[in-house]
Amino acid sequence: MPYSIAIDGPAGAGKSTIARMTAEKLGYIYVDTGAMYRAMALFLIRNNIAADDNEAVSRECRNADISIEYRDGEQVVLLGGQNVNPYLRTGEVSNMASVSSTNADVRVKLVELQRKLAEKANVVMDGRDIGTVVLPHAQCKIYLTASVAVRAKRRFDEIIEKGGEADIETISREIEERDYRDMNRANSPLKQADDAVYLDTSDLTIDEVTEKIMDIAKQKGIL
Ligand code: C5P
Repeated sequence: MPYSIAIDGPAGAGKSTIARMTAEKLGYIYVDTGAMYRAMALFLIRNNIAADDNEAVSRECRNADISIEYRDGEQVVLLGGQNVNPYLRTGEVSNMASVSSTNADVRVKLVELQRKLAEKANVVMDGRDIGTVVLPHAQCKIYLTASVAVRAKRRFDEIIEKGGEADIETISREIEERDYRDMNRANSPLKQADDAVYLDTSDLTIDEVTEKIMDIAKQKGIL
């Protein structure tokens, strides 16, 4: 059976950067499950479905043709065969994904896709429910987090670096709102799996966090 490393945690904890680096070091495939929820959100937006219309989301999500490919080691999300990676990081898609990912039918469909990927190859998979729901038998589970202030500052710096404008108060509030939605939804809420290792990245560099995860993987017998 292939090896799986599950990394869960709130938005902005550094999951994708860390998961990508860990996968690279181990020669594993990096699976970004958030991108799948974002692709589903894009599909729903394109079909004029309102985020809070649960019935319509349940109905429409069945028609979404979402698949994953790897090109030069990068995960490419295909929607109806088209690479939609460039469209997944907008505010509109983030907000829709945060709501549409609470829908049970959306989750069933995407969890199935995620499990299929992990059956075929060694993976580092990140998300909110990987250790608890998607891959409960993952050999190594990490719960990655950081304080709201640190996560807001990281996001702020990212936007400013790209030449954008941002307000740290607004970013903090949005992070708190997303945390609340992720942790309190009925379906697969974000929480630490009993056998996950808790890692607070507030005062650690990316390299330090990756090193820690490599150590934990070693302890779990992966290396
Ligand atoms: O991680 P990212 O911000 O890209 O996730 C996009 C959205 O998908 C988030 O709002 C999150 O709640 C949701 N998500 C989820 N389960 C996952 C991964 C992401 O509900 N495994």
